[in-house]
Amino acid sequence: MRPILVSACLLGLSTRYDGAAKRSEAVFEFLRDRGLVPVPVCPEQLAGLPTPRPRTFFALGSGAEVLDGPGQVVNEQGTVVNGPFLKGAAETLKVARIAGCREALLKERSPSCGAHQVYRGEEIVPGQGIAAALLERNGIRVFSEEEL
Ligand code: SF4
Repeated sequence: MRPILVSACLLGLSTRYDGAAKRSEAVFEFLRDRGLVPVPVCPEQLAGLPTPRPRTFFALGSGAEVLDGPGQVVNEQGTVVNGPFLKGAAETLKVARIAGCREALLKERSPSCGAHQVYRGEEIVPGQGIAAALLERNGIRVFSEEEL
């Protein structure tokens, strides 16, 4: 039984910024068919952020640029929140290592979890969330629920 990191909201946990979940039957079917054991993580809750919390998006760059310094993730009140998002990404990587996960199935377009796309303001642009980018840099394969 292989462990796989999964965005908690995709598993039906109410972790999203608006307090909702985003349960995906396709995700459960994928896990069941392959005998994978999901390890639920929410990088933003692991950062210590509250739920509900303000909506967040990139103002500059995407996850990779936030990891490297020049990127900016901001909330709808205009506050730069790079610090907590970087903490959440680091905690997520710790969970992946503790559980021995080599892949991560993450929620597309989230500023933490986006695997291939994120929001910059209201626009959808290519790029990864901060946790997704950190996981990938550390050898963990990242993909989204939209690729199942
Ligand atoms: Fe879901 Fe990731 Fe957002 Fe948490 S940070 S609610 S796991 S998309």
